[in-house]
Amino acid sequence: MYHHIKKLMYTVKVDDPDPRFGNMLLEQFGGANGELAAAMQYSIQGFNCDDPERKDLLMDIGTEELSHLEVVGALARMHLKPMKKSANRDAAEADPLVAIAGGGGVSLFNSMGAPWTADYLKITGELDVDLRSNIAAEARAKIVYERLINLCDDPGSKDALQFLMTREITHMKAFTLALESLGKDPFSIGNIPPTPVLVDEYFNDSTGVGDEGETDAKGPWNSGGSWIFVEEPELEQGVENLTGAPQAKNGKSGTSKVKSIAGDESPKKKRSA
Ligand code: MN
Ligand code: MN
Repeated sequence: MYHHIKKLMYTVKVDDPDPRFGNMLLEQFGGANGELAAAMQYSIQGFNCDDPERKDLLMDIGTEELSHLEVVGALARMHLKPMKKSANRDAAEADPLVAIAGGGGVSLFNSMGAPWTADYLKITGELDVDLRSNIAAEARAKIVYERLINLCDDPGSKDALQFLMTREITHMKAFTLALESLGKDPFSIGNIPPTPVLVDEYFNDSTGVGDEGETDAKGPWNSGGSWIFVEEPELEQGVENLTGAPQAKNGKSGTSKVKSIAGDESPKKKRSA
């Protein structure tokens, strides 16, 4: 059940309406990382959720996002207001779609006039996977609000955007802790385990030195621990296919590394058989 209260979650004040900024604000009204997308994503995930405690979290935040939609809509409407004056050509040019088709009111489009779509939503029906999507969605909303704040001079607008931006970090924290509270291994998704050895192989698929000096990087994302760094996966695969037996090419030591670990039973060999 939904209930509307005739009060904004955060009081919005605009001293100096700027239709161009009003157009930018539509990104958070009907855009991919906007408030309607957040409200729908969390609420629909909540409808589908069988875990009553996390369902409560999804419904709480999904409903708060609807209140954010109302706040950002109010803010956009105030900035778009000059479009309501007839023959204000300057204001209309800030967003012709809103001015001509929408009469200066907000509608479910992004800042470029693309209609809102359910394709923005990430809903998998797997709670931990959905929570990961939500953490990323909150991070995206946060950075968009930050950019809007940086592009705005109006103190009242900045205040409202600071409020909305702050709440996204609050949500990111709640979703992160909810995910952690599930107590799942962070690399365990679903029920079918990944293939041993193959899961630890890092394929160095971008090689050479780039025009701006980019080289192959090493870090905890590809070396140390259980990582097996596969120097030139394409060459190794090719050599194996040609000769039917693992062997080093051009004397590169990297090519024998996986073989020495995985031997004849290497998943790579099985794949190419
Ligand atoms: Mn929000
Ligand atoms: Mn949020």
